[in-house]
Amino acid sequence: MTTLDRITGLAEAHSLSVAGGVQKADAPLPDGIETLILLSPDGPAFWDHFQHSPEYCDGLPDPMDRWSVRVIDQLAQDLSAQPLYPFGTTPPHPFYRWALVSGRVWASPVQWLLHDTAGLWLSFRGALGFATRLDLPEAGKSPCEGCARPCVTACPVGALTDKGYDVPACHAFLDTPDGARCLSHGCAVRAACPVSQTYGRTPAQSEFHMRHFHR
Ligand code: SF4
Ligand code: SF4
Repeated sequence: MTTLDRITGLAEAHSLSVAGGVQKADAPLPDGIETLILLSPDGPAFWDHFQHSPEYCDGLPDPMDRWSVRVIDQLAQDLSAQPLYPFGTTPPHPFYRWALVSGRVWASPVQWLLHDTAGLWLSFRGALGFATRLDLPEAGKSPCEGCARPCVTACPVGALTDKGYDVPACHAFLDTPDGARCLSHGCAVRAACPVSQTYGRTPAQSEFHMRHFHR
């Protein structure tokens, strides 16, 4: 029988974690899916695992997306589930909306998604859709309630605040010597969140994503 514990155990073997779940009653899901399980990198363990994968080592484009498809397709087969990805479909699957109804993710003051354990480092590698309804935990409470909101003032050039995200200003800063820390350690806004700081995100993983974003 498929349970959340079984999915969690199989995902953890690939350094993925269950980031939340969605019932069909709470958001539109693709045909044939009653419960959707969102999958994210499993903290610092993920980067070490991914670095030793064939996709990381083969030098071909989009290694993380190709790794995700290989691993999550296999998980889906093992669990008789339907694999879904935040890339490769038009229109894209609504991962942002799904996350917001999962009870474990909230919109932060800077609008980026905040996860109860990954903080602002949240990302999704894919999801598993199940034809049967699975039991999910109760919804939690947003860590933003009562927070001093360091995320709002953390960007050195004010490119990402509660007023919005000025993407050209962010890229312009990354082209300067002072932008080197964002490139090597990840966005200072994400890093400033106290929940992010408990997650143990590897700087090398942040650098990998920043090089992809700023190329
Ligand atoms: S820094 Fe505080 S307000 Fe900002 S996302 Fe994190 S918990 Fe929420
Ligand atoms: S990457 Fe750096 S410049 Fe861009 S929004 Fe984040 S903190 Fe600001």
